[in-house]
Amino acid sequence: MRKIIIAIDGYSACGKSTTAKEVARELGYKYIDSGAMYRAVTLYFLDHLVAFTNPKEVDKALQNISLAFRVNAKGVSEIFLNGINVEQSIRKMRISENVSPVSTIKEVRQAMVALQRKLGKDKGVVMDGRDIGSVVFPDAELKLFLTADILVRAIRRQKELLEREDLVDVDTIIQNLQQRDQIDSTRKESPLVRPADSVEINTTHITIDEQVDEVIRLALSKIVAAGKRKFT
Ligand code: C5P
Repeated sequence: MRKIIIAIDGYSACGKSTTAKEVARELGYKYIDSGAMYRAVTLYFLDHLVAFTNPKEVDKALQNISLAFRVNAKGVSEIFLNGINVEQSIRKMRISENVSPVSTIKEVRQAMVALQRKLGKDKGVVMDGRDIGSVVFPDAELKLFLTADILVRAIRRQKELLEREDLVDVDTIIQNLQQRDQIDSTRKESPLVRPADSVEINTTHITIDEQVDEVIRLALSKIVAAGKRKFT
């Protein structure tokens, strides 16, 4: 069967990664969490006291960063920073509070986009983020743009944080989500935009299962279309 690229973009905490993971599992595709890559870079910068505004320090740090995704025993993709599993530590609030400024740095984006393209070169990939359909894979066969009400997004994020024993009040989360949305949408380098050829899904009132079913339905029609093109 022909493989396609599924790009899922949208604001923070709209259900992108939950949907992307499950869609990848059902289709037997690779799941790449591009946000995890920016988070891992942020973790490195904070732990090594890299001055975000100093291009020399940023370049040097980027040369010392190696990122990889490995699938664990439960079939879940996890990110490794220089050989260490950082899947849990990158979800902490201290990372969420610094990741958007780090993501505005041109050199950081160039390095991440190059790696993302490499990871998706054989297709059969579901990648979620902010610029996947617009910049990383502008020719992706299926582009989705997820949205949801801010309160619903914050409550979902609070539950996720609680599962990691990080208790954060809803107002602090709303503030963080709004700040990140603002920086992500207005930055100079590949801002978050809704690609004109994307399908928008508002996840406020639908369940994860409904979200996933809708994406699978759209993906299958694209996979069939991609297969047909092969024989014409
Ligand atoms: O997806 P997640 O919320 O984990 O992403 C964390 C941050 O990484 C975003 O707020 C954004 O600043 C940045 N990001 C990005 N481009 C991507 C994915 C994430 O700038 N493709």
